[in-house]
Amino acid sequence: MQANPKMILVLNCGSSSLKGALLDSEHGELVLSCLAEKLTTPDAYITFSYADNPKALPADRDSWFIGRHAGEKHRVELGEKNDHTGAVEALLEELKSHDLQSLVAAIGHRVVHGGEKYSASVLLTDDVIATLEECIPLAPLHNPANLTGIEAARTIFPGLPNVGVFDTAFHQTMPEHAYTYAVPRELYHKYGLRRYGFHGTSYRYVAQEAADMLGKDLKDTALIVAHLGNGASVAAILGGESKDTSMGLTPLEGLVMGTRSGDIDPGAFTFIEAATGLSAKEVNDMLNKKSGLLGISELSNDMRTIQEAAAEGHEGAKLALEITAYRLAKYIAAMSVATGRLDALVFTGGIGENSSLIRAKTIGYLGILGLKLDEAANEATRFGKAGIITQAGSMPCAMVVPTNEERMIAFDTRQLSGLGN
Ligand code: ADP
Repeated sequence: MQANPKMILVLNCGSSSLKGALLDSEHGELVLSCLAEKLTTPDAYITFSYADNPKALPADRDSWFIGRHAGEKHRVELGEKNDHTGAVEALLEELKSHDLQSLVAAIGHRVVHGGEKYSASVLLTDDVIATLEECIPLAPLHNPANLTGIEAARTIFPGLPNVGVFDTAFHQTMPEHAYTYAVPRELYHKYGLRRYGFHGTSYRYVAQEAADMLGKDLKDTALIVAHLGNGASVAAILGGESKDTSMGLTPLEGLVMGTRSGDIDPGAFTFIEAATGLSAKEVNDMLNKKSGLLGISELSNDMRTIQEAAAEGHEGAKLALEITAYRLAKYIAAMSVATGRLDALVFTGGIGENSSLIRAKTIGYLGILGLKLDEAANEATRFGKAGIITQAGSMPCAMVVPTNEERMIAFDTRQLSGLGN
């Protein structure tokens, strides 16, 4: 271990939240994570948690964990400094209190939408930031928050390199016939209306891990990856490149998600407006925030709660599970058109990594692809474990690969900041 290892700070800013992670730049080991919530309200707070005994932390730094229970969180109320800048300032204070601030060598930012401009991560110069402002119309909810985080980081950690890592960048390899909507071409040329796709950082990480598990060069693999978290999508990844994905112009398209409807007849927009008297914006809100698992079950957007309720016979929860798995299986089968062949179906994200039930139901629909579930392996591969969950020797296989977007962002940041490959 070095006396002064270089650390990368990873920031992910939402409209009222900030997720942060401090990782060592060489191995991507997590040292500290934080979560600020209810930002811009008087109740705003930030919680810090330190990794249990991180190897990257120099021995002379006091370990926050000494004498504490693993998993215990340290909460700071933000009071009047309750915006993103206040949260980043609180993070700096926390780092200072453990003498860690001088180890931070660069900052990586998750940026939701890079439009067609960015097909890879980029060092955030003034020019790049101006271009990101041009992308705001494509992600009016997400990009302004990301930019706020970038500005806060530049002010509070002056002189450090900042790197932008885009959710959309990985999908810039999609062919035109996969990203073009069948609407007047003018809408694309004038306004950039097309399919972009999201979760790209996760797909990039998981595809490489899956290739390693298969013992293949990424360039030789044909993968379908299902990233199933609160937001959910699938991607067809051939030779390490995205060929198609289920999310589109926005993250609303595609699968059933926690609160998002996924695919719905576009005619339903005006139907709902006329039937309910809601405005277009309110209908959009309904489809993004009140639909999906929550809308169907009328109970919860959380898969754990849905599974527990379904086991007790809750009809809405049972239906939500069935629709989620059926729609997911349909999409996976459709993605096999884009890959042409298949080495592995890969599950990741909170649901993909933990819900053996959703995996079993989905694979149950996919006999057509030759997938044969190994029930014991499926049950055993949860809670952060990676592994194959189909029967030995059957090809293609299905596998579980825990994602790690922070680590991917940290590695890109290290490379683009000139700290190493
Ligand atoms: P986000 O997209 O916010 O990063 P996550 O990837 O953490 O979300 O996924 C959150 C989802 O994972 C929630 O629906 C949660 O219920 C689900 N999940 C987490 N653990 C389990 C579990 N043990 N069984 C089933 N679902 C789980």
